[in-house]
Amino acid sequence: MCVFCKIVQGEIPAYKVYEDDDILAFLDISQATPGHTLVIPKEHCENIFALEENKAANLMKVVTRLSKKLKVALNIDALNILNNSGQLAGQTVNHFHIHLLPRSENDGLIIKFSSNKLSETELKGLQKKLKEG
Ligand code: AMP
Ligand code: ZN
Repeated sequence: MCVFCKIVQGEIPAYKVYEDDDILAFLDISQATPGHTLVIPKEHCENIFALEENKAANLMKVVTRLSKKLKVALNIDALNILNNSGQLAGQTVNHFHIHLLPRSENDGLIIKFSSNKLSETELKGLQKKLKEG
């Protein structure tokens, strides 16, 4: 059983902040920023590629609710929402989870996109692939 399934089953402890029949949210054991929270489906599901769309809708509702809760409770007005799906993306726990990362000035967290410019042909090629099917 994976570590998050063990948390769901109550076999290992967690600082739970939200729970309903299908979804659990708890503080990340390693607080990248104060309030760093994970939102998971209770049912084991490896990552975004295995997640059913109808389950995603409820997860996103909880993500939205908790984001607003974090804003008020921690008096922040910036937050990153992050999911790592797959080893190359940095996923270390193979049970789908969404990170909520409250942001504040000088919190030291670095999330940075590099700015790669693709040619128009390349962009059109990608668009075609994504729109197909
Ligand atoms: P990821 O790298 O996206 O797979 O994130 C996995 C996250 O799970 C990391 O931020 C870990 O700190 C966190 N984590 C691992 N084990 C536990 C645990 N027992 N309780 C709470 N968070 C955990
Ligand atoms: Zn699991």
